[in-house]
Amino acid sequence: MSSARVIAIDLGGTQVRVALVEGHQIQSRAALKTDISGGPAAILDQIVALIDHVGEGQDKNSIVGVGLSSAGPIDTEAGIILGIPTIPGCEGFPIRQALSDRMGLPVQIENDAIAAALGEWRHGAGRGFRNLVYITVSTGIGGGAVVDGRLLHGRQGMAVHVGHMRLAREGPLCSCGASACFEAFASGTALTERAQTASRLADSEFLQLTSKSGDVNARHVIEGAQVGDPQCRALVAEEAMYLGQGITSIIHAFSPERVIMGGGLAQGFDLFEAGIHEVIESDAMAPFKTIRVVRSDLGDDSGLVGAATMVIEQSSN
Ligand SMILES: [Zn+2]
Repeated sequence: MSSARVIAIDLGGTQVRVALVEGHQIQSRAALKTDISGGPAAILDQIVALIDHVGEGQDKNSIVGVGLSSAGPIDTEAGIILGIPTIPGCEGFPIRQALSDRMGLPVQIENDAIAAALGEWRHGAGRGFRNLVYITVSTGIGGGAVVDGRLLHGRQGMAVHVGHMRLAREGPLCSCGASACFEAFASGTALTERAQTASRLADSEFLQLTSKSGDVNARHVIEGAQVGDPQCRALVAEEAMYLGQGITSIIHAFSPERVIMGGGLAQGFDLFEAGIHEVIESDAMAPFKTIRVVRSDLGDDSGLVGAATMVIEQSSN
């Protein structure tokens, strides 16, 4: 049998990305800035336009289905958007049915970090493991898990929102409205905020130079640490400490064989790696101390590959 061809979609607050996938190889791709102000109807139009673009010249009958990986929380059992903080105004939108009606194809949806966990499990850094946790660390923090050889979904398909584990009674405000969540301490947004404070208060030559040419963000911290700036290295060490604390709790909760880190901050994984493992080795209970954290293999494509994999595995059942 030739490889199934599917459409994979990754819907986020910044971009909506669409790919034509054969096997697990992306054949063509296209993206647009998410039309948040246009609401769900506009976003649906964007998705359909992107699908037309990547499928141009292709035999539509060769496409077996559509997989959508979306920022959450979305109810993947009912197929509706519950409320995505980064894409407001879509609450209650029946995205699975609406997309299926437009495309005339079966559509499956998954919370993005769960789709990414599936992508990494089948085709990336999680191959061969029966237990793993994937976390994405970027604007926020999301997670997905494979437990006992099965992708974990939970009620309404919303399992593993580990970004909202509270690490302390008090702390920085979180995007969810609570405070002191893992995400509020360790996301790229949190690192950016600490970097902006540092660039105002401290004598980081690198950050001050950067801040003159625009707003300091987490990427500048990683670049500064790479060239040895002491303030950036201190910010990176602090970030690794927060990541290590959250990951240590994740390891205790799920007992994975490995933890895979993706998202924008994974670009600086080499800088965080030692600090994360130091916390695990010091804070985890003895049988958990040796668990390793690795960088995602598929990078930005974990969710797209996972969305495609979900459709391919469903269609071959
Ligand atoms: Zn939170």
